[in-house]
Order: sequence, then C-alpha cells, then structure tokens
Amino acid sequence: MQRPWRVITTVLIIASTWGTARLPDVWADDAPAPPKLRLPADVVGPVRYRVELTAIPDRDTFTGVIDIDLQFVKPTSVLWLNAEKLAIKDATLTVGGEKFAAKVITEPKDYVGFSFDHPVGSGPATLHVAYQGEVSRKDQQGIFQMKDRDRWYIYSQFEDIYARRAFPCFDEPGYKVPWQLTLHVKSDQGALSNTPIVSETNTGDGMKTLKFAETKPLPSYLLALAVGDLELVHAGTAGKKNTHIRIVVPRGHSAEAKYAAETTPTIVNLLENYFGIAYPYEKLDEVAVPLYGGAMENAGLVVYGSSIILAKPDEDTLQRQRIWVSIASHELAHQWFGDLVTTAWWDDIWLNEGFASWMANKIVNQYHPEWKMNISELNGYQGAMDNDALVSARQVRQPIESNDDIANAFDTITYQKGSALLNMFESYMGPEKFRDGVRRYLLKYEWKNATSGEFLAALAGDDSTIAPAFASFLDQPGVPLVTAQLECDGGTTRLGLSQQRFFPLGSTGTANQLWKVPVCVRYPAGTDETRQCTLLDQKSRALQLSKAAGCPEWVEANAGADGYYRLLYLGDLLASLLKNDARVLSLPEKVALIGDISALTSNGKIVLGKALTLAPTFARDSDRQVVTKTMDINTGLENKYLVPEQLLPRYRQYLVDLYGGRARSLGWKASPDDSEDTRLLRPRVLGVVANDAEDPEAIAETKKLAVAWLNNHKAVAPDMVEVVLNTAARHGDRELFDRMRAEAKQENDEHFRWILLLSLGLFQSPAIIKTALSIVLTNEFDSRDSVAILFGAS
Ligand SMILES: [Zn+2]
Repeated sequence: MQRPWRVITTVLIIASTWGTARLPDVWADDAPAPPKLRLPADVVGPVRYRVELTAIPDRDTFTGVIDIDLQFVKPTSVLWLNAEKLAIKDATLTVGGEKFAAKVITEPKDYVGFSFDHPVGSGPATLHVAYQGEVSRKDQQGIFQMKDRDRWYIYSQFEDIYARRAFPCFDEPGYKVPWQLTLHVKSDQGALSNTPIVSETNTGDGMKTLKFAETKPLPSYLLALAVGDLELVHAGTAGKKNTHIRIVVPRGHSAEAKYAAETTPTIVNLLENYFGIAYPYEKLDEVAVPLYGGAMENAGLVVYGSSIILAKPDEDTLQRQRIWVSIASHELAHQWFGDLVTTAWWDDIWLNEGFASWMANKIVNQYHPEWKMNISELNGYQGAMDNDALVSARQVRQPIESNDDIANAFDTITYQKGSALLNMFESYMGPEKFRDGVRRYLLKYEWKNATSGEFLAALAGDDSTIAPAFASFLDQPGVPLVTAQLECDGGTTRLGLSQQRFFPLGSTGTANQLWKVPVCVRYPAGTDETRQCTLLDQKSRALQLSKAAGCPEWVEANAGADGYYRLLYLGDLLASLLKNDARVLSLPEKVALIGDISALTSNGKIVLGKALTLAPTFARDSDRQVVTKTMDINTGLENKYLVPEQLLPRYRQYLVDLYGGRARSLGWKASPDDSEDTRLLRPRVLGVVANDAEDPEAIAETKKLAVAWLNNHKAVAPDMVEVVLNTAARHGDRELFDRMRAEAKQENDEHFRWILLLSLGLFQSPAIIKTALSIVLTNEFDSRDSVAILFGAS
C-alpha cells in the first residue's frame, strides 16, 4: 500500500551559517521512503538525549524540545527516527559547530525523516528538534492524562513503542543511552521522572522548571514522567546503597499507600540478595495511576494502577495485598532484569517478562511462604499450556515481522511459559547453580543489551547440554505430552517415558515433535524416597529406577510439578498415586495432577466421566488450592456443551453434593476467627454453589447481601464484595441494575467502582444488557472505567 498522507514540510532554520535553506524541487515527487519495522542500524545511533517538555494537566497538547547527540557511522542525507502524533516545528543539525537546515519528512505513523542538502559524513553531530505532541484522554499510551477527584494528572507509558509519541527518538530497546529530562510545569504542581531533581527554578509566569539528573543508559521505553498535584509518602530506605523509596499518589490518597510503603523495602532487599547486585538506580518512586490497568517497570519510577497499589486500610482485601506484593516483586525484579540488562530486540521479550514473573514467584515465596504463591504461579503455567496446546500457538522466541507482533508478544506464552521454563531448568540444574548463572549474566551485560543466546550461555556455564535443551522449548511452539509407564521385570525396574506434542481432540496438528525435556521423578527407595532426573531427548526412553528396592509402590513422574509438560500415566500408576487420598503427593504435585487430568479430558486420553469421579477425592482435601483446582475439572461444563439440557439438574446436584457442605460450613459472613485460607476459599466455593450449581438458597442470600452492601459498605466483608455483587447481578432485575448503576456513579473507591461496572455487564436479561452496553458509548463514566462492563458482558 502507498502512504497517501505523507507530506514534506519546510523547516525553519533558527541560525544557519548557510543562510536561508533552499528546498530541491525533486523531493516533492521523489521523497525517500521510510524504513520498514526497524531503523537502519548501520547508519547512525544516539549517544545521549536532552529533552525539555512543557506538560500541563487538562491540556490536550504538550510542547517539547529535544537535542540528540548522534554518531554517524557512514555518510547519509536522510536521518530517520521514530515519531508518532508529533507536529515538528523546526529542526537543525549541528556538525562541527556549524548548524545545518533539516527538512522534515512527515510520515503518518511511526517515522519522521530529517533530510539534509548534503550528506552528513561519519562522526558526531547533534540534532535539535522543537515539536508539539498529544496528551491522550482516551488511552494510556505515550503521554496521557487521568482525572482523580476533579484534578487532572499527567502520566506516561512508553512500552512497547509509545516513546515515539513523546519525542522523536530511536524507539527500539537496543538503543540504550543516557537521557537528561527537564520539565516545565505549573509552579503549584509537582513532577517526577526516572532520576532525582537537580534544580528547580521559578520562571515567574506561574510556571517552574525542574531539571532532572542524567539517567544511566536507558532504552526509550523505560523513560517516564508524572505531573500534577502529587503527594509523596516516604517508605524509608532499602538495599546496600540505602536507596530512598517513596509512594507517589494523587492528592488525598496518602493513607491508602500504607501497605505498599510497608512492603516495598523488604521486596527490594530480597531481590538484592538474590541478584548479588545493589539496586541499580539512585532512587525508587512507585506511582499510583488512577484507572490504570497494569504496572510498568520504568527505571526508578515504577507505575501501578491505583487499585493495585492503593487501598483504604479498612476496605483492603487479602487478594489485593497478595496481588500487590506479587506485581511489585515483578516490576522491581525488572530493575535488574530488563532495565539494568535489556533485551536486545522484542523477539526476546520473554527474557524480561518470563524472568520477572519467575522472580516475583520466588520473592513472594521467600517473603510470605504461607501464601503458597508457587501454586498461583503453577496455575499460570497450566494456563499457558492450554494456549500452547493449540495448533496455532506461537514460539516463545517468535520472529517480529510487524509492530502488531511486538504487541502480541506480551502474552501468556511470554510471561507464564517463559517463567515455567526458567522454573523447570532451575529445578533440573539446582537452584544455586542456576542463581550463579543468572548473576554471571547480569554482571557481564549490566547497562547493556543481551539476547536469549547470551543468557543461555551465561546460565549454563560449562554444562553444554543446558542451552540446546532450553532452546528446544524457546524455538518451537507447543507443550509436550509425556507418558510414563512402570516396567518391573525380574530384577530391573524401569520407567518407560515417551513424548509427543499435546493437542486437543480434533486438532489437525502433527504430534510428531521432539524436545529435550528435563524429566524428574520421585519414588520410594527403601524406607525413604528418592528423586532422579533425565533429559528425555528422544521419542521414548526407559529410565532405570536405580534406587528402587523391587517394584516401587508409586512413581510421581513430574517431581515437584516443575516440568513444563502434560503427563499421562499408563497402567496402574495413576491409581497407585491416588490411593489414601493421594497422600504421597505434595501440594504442587496434586494441583498439577488435577490440571493434567482436566487437560487430558480435552484430548480424549481420559474420559470426562472418569475425571469427574476423581474430583471428590480432591474436593475433600484440606488445602484450599487443591479444592479450588478441582473446579477446573467440573465447573463450566454446560458452557462447553458437555452436559445435555435434560441432565443439567443432575449436574447441578453433583456440584451441590461436592461443595454444598463446605459452602454451608463456611457461611456467607466472615468471622474474626477466620484464617486467611478460609477468607480466600469462601468466595470461590460460594461462587460455584450460587453460579454453577444455581443453588436457590445461595442466590437469594447474595441478593440480600448485595442490597445490604449498597445501603452500607460495612455490611459485607471486603473479600466477599466481588462474588456477592457479581452473583446478585447474574440473577438480578432492573431495580438492582439501576441501584448498582447509581452507586457506580457516586462510588469514590476505584476498586469497588470497577466491580460495580463489571457487574452491570453480568445481568442476564437482554433488555438490561442492551442498556448496560449503551453506557460504554456515553460519557457517563470515563471510558477507561466503563470498559469493565464489556469484561462482564457475555
Ligand atoms: Zn513485566
């Protein structure tokens, strides 16, 4: 396709020894074409940036001036940079003290070109550009504004490719250089960026100028800013360098930052201990952004959605606190993995994201072992396996062919499969050896970029089997299905192992695919038990169970559930593991086994009816995580058309039989004596009984509680609000809908407002759904808030 909007604009030269620039006429018809996908790496690169931005909340534009010190590698007459939604006002290039005119080639998207009358020779030069950009009110990309309690604030989000909306730059992770930022803001407002402020000057026109220290080398996607009536909550110091930590909130929210302020220093200390490298930056600010969905690891200025980082202490939930510690650990792990060492290109983004996810799991387990975060992470791995089972699944290291591929790379394959692979190889290599490899990698590439190959080489040390085995999971899609069969024959005891690609029933994929799979098994050896590992690198292989005394009573063929594979037991192995309520299995092994059984029903290796008969064993379990995992097998079957209409009542009765007793004993109301597990299990079990089993008593109870909460928020425990409102909405009428809608309008708490809006989408009556959907198209709520209705609507 052609680029119909491309125009060439004349550029004013501020002061040029050439005098007034003349435009060669030929360029109008014969303008140079912009690069495709990537800037040419062999022409020119940045050395450092100086940026000045004037940013005033509640204005839809900002102005900027950027000076980029460049190093030209070879003579060129056109310099291409990334830029989007920027109106360039003027541009000059200084070479050897002389200023030259630059003509601007404006592209509709992604690029801006600066062309010169004569080719610029190799060597240093400085490009100066003045421009204007947009402050978005619709999305959260580039520089955007958000409103909180009638005040507007400005924030930024540059990953993956939105720094180009803030300044013309080399917007690729491989260009990693220092930046010096200066912000012009209203004199009664505050502003923050990646580094400390080095000077503050009142300019007398109701404005002030804040100059920030030059950053360490950073890629464009890690720059950040926050402007507005900000409050700073001091959270003490952490780490070997006693780094100052602050929580940054919109005016009036300081009290809600308590938990974040209390927990962040510990997380930083635990991370430092693991990496053996001090926190890399001069300060650490963690910023609460209203209505923001995620979190971002900007170096020294990490941002989080307000509902992740903030909560009123008396309305806080256990789930929110655990999510906070986990997400903060993830973003702070990035300060080393991603920020200190940055992926060279987006095809290796798993190195950033898989690693940070894996590291978060490790840190939360050290900080709060009783939370059993590894089980949440394991459930994430199994979710990745579900996606990876599809014939259309992508590789972890998928070549990037377009900007859409960059955005698509931020998915469960990158995050959860990446994390699962690190977990599998850590377990196979041993945690200390693995940690030493991680440290070697960070030390070798600190302040620079690196690739998967460089990571694997550093990780493996002198073990030549690790990198090819790891690469077999990175460079091909899919999840292996490993089968295990015990072969006891005379004096020898072997475990027959085989591998093929796991596909759902009916898939057209070819199962004939090989990995080098680390398989670790556990089995009894005399009065004790033993663990033994092998690299399954062929279609099938027999593992000698060398420590077994005779034929072992049981064999767990995914020890600790650390392997990234689905597992099918042949012969009597499964039955022997399930004996005595599966007592020989650890908690992660039970959860993985239930997940595998559920997955195997989807590919026909285990009949659903058989799987349903296994669920009661685990539904009785004393661990919350095992009980909730059984719901993978037996809930939502009617939505998959697996339960015929006439059998629905019996299916619902089966669920009541399974979970009704526990639901009754848990009750709808929290008690001060409840353990944390009870508080977390209650909403899950009651949700199944009310929504899946459609138990009339449970439905009636939620409706009563929903109205009570609408009258007085103290009537329902914070942990229960979501299940109560969601369930009541699913079974609710127009009157309840109108009340929830009115409540959402006046609800100040972002978390509760989100639950209310999501609930509006859950009403079942077609007429009500129509009303709910129409709200999304109006200005009744900020569209970044009312999108919750779409998440609810089915
Ligand atoms: Zn991340």
